[in-house]
Amino acid sequence: MTRRVRVRFAPSPTGPLHIGGVRTALYNYLFARQHGGDMILRIEDTDSMRFVPGAEDYINEALAWLGIGIDEGVREGGNYGPYKQSERRDIYREHVHMLLDAGKAYIAFDTPQELEAKRAAVQNFQYDASTRLEMRNSLAMSPQEVQALIDQGTPYVVRFKIEPGRDVTVHDLLRGDVTINSSILDDKVLYKSADDLPTYHLANIVDDHLMEVSHVIRGEEWLPSSPLHVLLYEAFGWADTMPEFVHLPLLLKPDGKGKLSKRDGDRLGFPVFPLDWTDPKTGDRSSGYREAGYLPQAVINFLALLGWNPGDDREIFSMQELIEAFSIEHCSRKGAKFDFEKGKWFNHEYLMAAPDAQLAELFKPILTQQGVDPDKFGDDYITRVVALVKNRINFVRDLWDNAAFFFQAPTTYAEKDVRKRWKPDTPAVMQQLVEVLQGIDRFDDPQHCEEVVLGWIDEQGLHRGNVMNAFRLTVVGECKGPHMFDITSLLGKEETIARIKRGLNSISLPADE
Ligand code: GLU
Repeated sequence: MTRRVRVRFAPSPTGPLHIGGVRTALYNYLFARQHGGDMILRIEDTDSMRFVPGAEDYINEALAWLGIGIDEGVREGGNYGPYKQSERRDIYREHVHMLLDAGKAYIAFDTPQELEAKRAAVQNFQYDASTRLEMRNSLAMSPQEVQALIDQGTPYVVRFKIEPGRDVTVHDLLRGDVTINSSILDDKVLYKSADDLPTYHLANIVDDHLMEVSHVIRGEEWLPSSPLHVLLYEAFGWADTMPEFVHLPLLLKPDGKGKLSKRDGDRLGFPVFPLDWTDPKTGDRSSGYREAGYLPQAVINFLALLGWNPGDDREIFSMQELIEAFSIEHCSRKGAKFDFEKGKWFNHEYLMAAPDAQLAELFKPILTQQGVDPDKFGDDYITRVVALVKNRINFVRDLWDNAAFFFQAPTTYAEKDVRKRWKPDTPAVMQQLVEVLQGIDRFDDPQHCEEVVLGWIDEQGLHRGNVMNAFRLTVVGECKGPHMFDITSLLGKEETIARIKRGLNSISLPADE
């Protein structure tokens, strides 16, 4: 019988979720959905020193924004809870005792100072089979001594008793078998009496076992921990339910070598977090994809292809298409360079594909911010504006720069365009243009307007480029923007003419002419 696919995303709430963590969550989600399995969100908050308030909410909000659905978790509930490790102390305590009773772990009283002194005295000191009897622990002391210390409330840790000289193999679906010798491992701390909490290693594998996790898909930075996790599974007698492992490659700096960091984002001007975040202690701000104007679907598509490829040259994938196409075999073993320009490209593509009415909704708050009342213009008008300018934007916020003149008449006129396009005869020509426009009755038909105006220009023997650019200057404020008669048909006759007249009053001939 094959096992039900159950995967988990297991972040530690120590700050904002890094974009690499989001990719790990995404791959877990795709894998779970593809196999009709379960996606668990487990909060690994046993390191009380590194706990940051707000980080858990941030994780939930980020995953929800991106559409990475969770089947079991703190909010969702489920049959394997609690899903927050700090609420599972009893379970860990019980498991620590199982190992102690079986002689697979021991109690150690060495203080941090003692350990430090030892490290200073012995080069490359490692707490392991070769040194453990020199230390202050239950293997080197009598049971009475140990009990007395515990009774006095002396803080202690529980260490995993690693048998030296054994080959330990991690089966990784992406990397194949990774084998190390157990002698290189130290007797890892599994539990600390001081805060009655397990360390990451113990909590992580106890939970993976109890939650019946079938596949551990995580970042490659956890690969060095995996042999220890294999040994722990064995020590508990759970070897036959050991999950399959997949260690995903790192996300790398866009330039140079090494892991992508917040500093790279700050330096090169892109977010490395899904949402904005302000550190509650330092006030340090980190920018997020959501606030930077990305559509969640674009972020998902972008991330999916950082470390995975479909095996052909397709690039645009909906979540559903990703679920169908995803495979571990097509994940890369090499780190993926974080190509931020590609991220922008994806956003542009998704904006192009998004319905104009949806973009209009996203544009409205920006209009309000700019002092424009969207209700004065109406949904239909805003939607039509969006349709005219959206091919010029990478982000929703770029809409304002490209479309402000649809909502506000220009008050200034681009100097270089004035110099180039406003000639001594221009005012007279613009006066005539006003007359011509007055005479058009189907003003909202761009093609008709174009025929009439170009017909008039040709008939008068005028220069199309000069006339049209001067016209544009008065209406837009610069010689840029969508097709002129698409603009005028939206603005309407009255507004178009008012703008030409205003231009006539405000634009003066360049000084040198
Ligand atoms: N809590 C670890 C983290 O923050 C989990 C690693 C794992 O998935 O085992 O990434």
